This record gives sequence, C-alpha cells and structure tokens, in this order.
Amino acid sequence: MSFVLHGLGVSGGIAIGRAMLMSHATLEVSHLTIPARSVDKEIARFDSAVLAVKNELIQMKENTEHAPAELAAFIDIHTMFLEDPELVDKPRELIRERRCNAEWALVQQMEHLVDQFEAFDDPYLRERKFDVVQVVERVVKELLGHAGRPAPKVSKGTKEEALIVVAHDLSPADTISFKDHRFASFITDVGGATSHTAILARSMAIPSIVGLENARALIRDGEQLIIDGTRGVVIVNPDPRILEEYQLRKNQIELERSKLKRLKTAKSETIDEVPVSLYANIELPGDVPVALEAGAEGVGLFRTEFLFLDRGDMPDEREQYDAYKKVVKGMNGRPVTIRTFDLGNDKDIRPESTLGDRVKTNPALGRRAIRLSLSEPQMFQIQLRAILRASKYGPIKLLIPMLAHAHEIDQTLAALEQAKASLRAEKVTFDEHIQVGGMIEIPAAALAVGLFLRRLDFLSIGTNDLIQYTLAIDRSDEQVASLYDPLHPAVLMLLAHTISSAEKVGIPVSVCGELAGDPALTRLLLGMGLRIFSMHPSQILEVKNRVLKSDIGELIPHVRRMLRLEEPGKLREALEKLNA
Ligand code: PEP
Ligand code: MG
Repeated sequence: MSFVLHGLGVSGGIAIGRAMLMSHATLEVSHLTIPARSVDKEIARFDSAVLAVKNELIQMKENTEHAPAELAAFIDIHTMFLEDPELVDKPRELIRERRCNAEWALVQQMEHLVDQFEAFDDPYLRERKFDVVQVVERVVKELLGHAGRPAPKVSKGTKEEALIVVAHDLSPADTISFKDHRFASFITDVGGATSHTAILARSMAIPSIVGLENARALIRDGEQLIIDGTRGVVIVNPDPRILEEYQLRKNQIELERSKLKRLKTAKSETIDEVPVSLYANIELPGDVPVALEAGAEGVGLFRTEFLFLDRGDMPDEREQYDAYKKVVKGMNGRPVTIRTFDLGNDKDIRPESTLGDRVKTNPALGRRAIRLSLSEPQMFQIQLRAILRASKYGPIKLLIPMLAHAHEIDQTLAALEQAKASLRAEKVTFDEHIQVGGMIEIPAAALAVGLFLRRLDFLSIGTNDLIQYTLAIDRSDEQVASLYDPLHPAVLMLLAHTISSAEKVGIPVSVCGELAGDPALTRLLLGMGLRIFSMHPSQILEVKNRVLKSDIGELIPHVRRMLRLEEPGKLREALEKLNA
C-alpha cells in the first residue's frame, strides 16, 4: 500500500531507494530488586559499563578526523553526560538506597532528566534530551552485554546508493560509523534542524528528513521509498506513475549538478575576460567545507549572530575566538569577512536572554545590529577582541551591519581601536591593518554613500534589508511577501548608485544579500559594475555558469537602458532579453 509521511526536510534533493531499518535499542529493562549483599557488585558493574562507553566514545572521537566537526562536538557532549553527577551519581544512589538493578536505576534517572529537558523553552536545549537517551541506550547495551550498534548490514548485490536508512534517531556515534558508507538518504522519527542527522546529511549533501514521528514503526525493511528532502515528504511504496515522475526529476537534478560541478575549478571570468569574485555566505564554522566544495574564493559574509541564536547566554571571548579561528584556518588563506552581531531583528532574541528586554517592538527599525553592539560596549569588545585574535591565522575583514550614520562608523572604529589597544597591552598578536567595511542596507546609507566611502575600506550591499527598508516591506511578514520586489526601480537605482560611487573611488563593493545568488540577476548586476558576489554556497556554481556566459562589453549599454525604465512590465521584459 502506498502512503505519504511528512516531516522536516533538513537537506534538500530527491532520493529513491529501499528502506533499511536501524534496530532501535530497547530501554524496556527488567526491574529487579537486588539483595543487599550484591549492592557493591552492582555499582561496580554500573561503573565499568559507564567507563567502557566513555572509552568507546573517546576512541571514536580520535577516529573522526574526516567527519564533520559538529559530530565531534556532539561526542564531547555525550562524554560530558557520562561525567555528569546527575547521570552517574544518582543511579548509584538508587542502586544503593532502593536496591534497583543498574539498568533500571539508570533508566529511571534518564526519564527524570528527559522531563527536565522537555521543560526548556529553548528548542536547542530541548533537543538535547535525545542526547541523554542516546548515551543511556549505549550504557544499557553495555550492561546487557551487547555494546555498540553495528552499522546496518548491506546485503550482497545491493548498491548502498540505493539504501535509505530509516531510524528512530541516529546518535553521533551511529552517524560516524556511517562515514565510510554512502547511503542515499537518512530519515528519522525525531530530531530537528540542529540534530546530528541533519548536520551529517547536509555535510554529505544527501536528502534527509527528520521529525517523521512514526516512520520507524510504519515503514518495513526493503520497502521502496521516495525521499523529497526539499519538501520534507516521504512516499512509501509509490505507484509507478509517481515513481517515474520523481525518477525524472531526480535525473534532472543530478544532470544539472554534475554539469555544474565541472565548473568548480573553472576561472570565474566573463567572455571578455573580466574577473568576477564569487564568495560564500556562511552561518556556522561547519559551513566551511560546503563553501570550499562549491569553489568559493573566500567567505564574503559570516553571520556571527548564529553563534548566539538558540541559546540563552552570550558566547564568551574564548568560544567566539575558537569559532572565528576555525573558519579562518578552514578557509586556508582565503579571505574571511566576519560581520559583527546582527542581533535584534528577525534573528530572534529569546525573551529570557539578558538582551531581550532591551530590544523593543518593531525590531526591524529598532535597536538592532550595530545599534545594539554600540549600546552594549562590553559585548562588542568581547566580539572585536575575539575577531582580532583570530586574525593571526589568516586574512580577516571586519564587516559592520546596518550602518546609517557617520558617527556610528566613527564610534565603531573607536571601539575597534580600544580592542586593539587592550590586546597590544596583553602582547597578543593580531592583524594591525585589519580592513573594516560597512553594510549598505538602509536607503539613507545608499544615498549618502560618500560618508561611507570616506571612512571604510570596503562596502557590502545587504539587499535583503535594503529592499525591506526601501519598499517598507517587513521581510518576515508573509502577508506582504508578494510586494517584496528586487526589481523595483527604486531598488535598482540605489544599487546602481552605490556600485558606481564605490567604483569611482576604487573602493571594493560586493552584494551579499539573496540577490547575489539569483542567477536571473547575475547579468543585471554585472552590467551595473558589480564584480564581487557573496551568496549561499549552493548558488555559487549556478552564478558562475552565468558569469562564464556573459560579456560585460555587451551588457553595459543594455543595463544602462534598463536603469532608465520605470514600468515593471518593461523592466521584466528587458531582463528577459538580457538573460536570453
Ligand atoms: C542582507 O540584509 O541582505 C544581509 C545579507 O544580511 P541579513 O540577511 O543577515 O540581514
Ligand atoms: Mg541585513
């Protein structure tokens, strides 16, 4: 029988294959009362199981060189749980005081901890309950004498590419044991966007869906599955017509991808040999491999506020420094543009966080981004120091979001000088000549761009916000989404003015909003004079494909004529011609 399941698509694309069910460790353990004389022996049995699992995890971490860094971090979390008195001392007490057998004592305490995690408002912390369960599962198995969960067996003659792992949940240890395999997809009952499954699937670029709730119970081994990772849909036992349709779409996607892949090492320049730089936008250090895989020349925008989101406290200097250093080292000599926190607008500040009450209603026009950083000097110093310290490891540029006023730039430069002075006093080395750039994302900044050009080393146009503020469209409000128009003549005028003004004085300017990654707009931007694009890594090769097929000499007069048009219909017509 054919049926459909819906979950959260965490890695896009289509996979078609046979289900391979992962056995789900049972936590239904026996409830035994042990004799008083066996208590010490039972505690020793518990301790040795905990130690064995801890050693196993340490060993595993040492062997994870090629696995995504986040997985190693999750293994650390699991190891930490095994050192946490809440998880190891309490079961000992239960064994001693209530004379429970070790498995039962541990599972009781796990249930108590899971309840505590479930009570958290923060989705990231709530999700950590799965980590507790996974750690306990491993210890229980060790106690029962069948440690580890073997990687699923692949029967002879089955191509791994055609297998789809269906699991209740995947622990980091499970996913690491998969790293030498090449499955078509992973789907799980539990988990969210930050789950290990999601991270691994994205890093392996295979379609994946989590949070399916009952997939493990409803799907049987060997059943045929279609996974649409973009829409979060699983089709079980599809009928032949649907299967054919998806097979066709899958082939199309693969063909396009493989054609584009060949462009990875191609020099990014136009037909008339004008070089065009293509950079990646990243949100976390774990995005670096994807950026490199796409052939990015560097990072054009590192949205550092993602280090802060999903947690209540502020990452301290050490943690930020580690993250920035990891990105710079990972990019291996390629430039990395680190944007200071852009907190307070659509990047939600959790109400219980210390900053929450300082960000008022109407956040898009409120104290966000550089406004917030300047009003929180201590927070800003921590970030500036962390960025400067990481600049020792490779070329870093500093990017300031949402500038409107000259005095904001002056205050930012003064804050940077203060951070430099404090590091000098501590004899810490850093790049004394770190370049400082500003984001042009407020119409006032685009119109009075001279103020910025005189004070800064480079500019980056944030079209996502520039469009929002120019057209008075809240970018997070679906009801006005249809009015969000990148081709509005006012937006084009602001873009063209900013690019040509920067060009005149020889200051580099990039676009790092979504527009930069839209291949339909590549020629328009090239014709305006843009030579640096920064975008989601998944778009780089498509945009490069456009660059390689464009001739700047031909584009310029067309785009000049386009910029004189105001009627939307005529503008769209002209764009179609430009792309033909
Ligand atoms: C932008 O506004 O275009 C931009 C790149 O910044 P963000 O999307 O993070 O606001
Ligand atoms: Mg922005």
